[in-house]
Amino acid sequence: MRLIFLGPPGVGKGTQAKQICEHYKIIHLSTGEILRKEIFDKSLVGNEAKTYIDNGNLVPDKLILGIIENRLKENDTQQGYLLDGFPRTISQAEGFQKITLQLKHRLNGVISLTANEEELIKRLIKRGKDSGRSDESPEIIRHRQKVYWTQTAPLLEYYTQEKILKKVDGLGNITDITKRILETIS
Ligand code: AMP
Repeated sequence: MRLIFLGPPGVGKGTQAKQICEHYKIIHLSTGEILRKEIFDKSLVGNEAKTYIDNGNLVPDKLILGIIENRLKENDTQQGYLLDGFPRTISQAEGFQKITLQLKHRLNGVISLTANEEELIKRLIKRGKDSGRSDESPEIIRHRQKVYWTQTAPLLEYYTQEKILKKVDGLGNITDITKRILETIS
């Protein structure tokens, strides 16, 4: 099973990704988590990504595509994966398509989690108080939402045209949302 989760910051992609990965026994790949670890480890990639992340901007496509390509060549991802937070631009989606063609990986579906933007901002501001994330101040949260709508939302149209996009209401109880996602996939 190979899936992509799309959706604005705060919609619950990470929480739902964990449930879905447990269900299908597949690998959860969150590019945000990967980058935060690189920053924590003070690696070359981490140093390059830090300023972009702290300002709520997207890190360069080339850097992200390099990370994804390496990760998808490893053994543990051969049984399947869920991409959470990738792709974030049309150019990343095109790069991803090239990688999957090369690896002969077929994508099963793209799940778009939806929710009201003001609700998301409220949720993120609440989470930001104790998440310790450098990009969860109210100002950066609003900027990340804007980045989503300008740079990532065009992917909704891209995957609609590919006929693999499925929309799922991301508001409500965690278990109910997981059920909705599983029903949509099957
Ligand atoms: P996330 O945890 O998915 O909200 O990602 C946190 C931050 O990491 C984003 O605001 C971006 O700065 C960066 N990031 C994560 N994934 C990507 C991606 N696919 N492309 C570019 N930047 C990314």
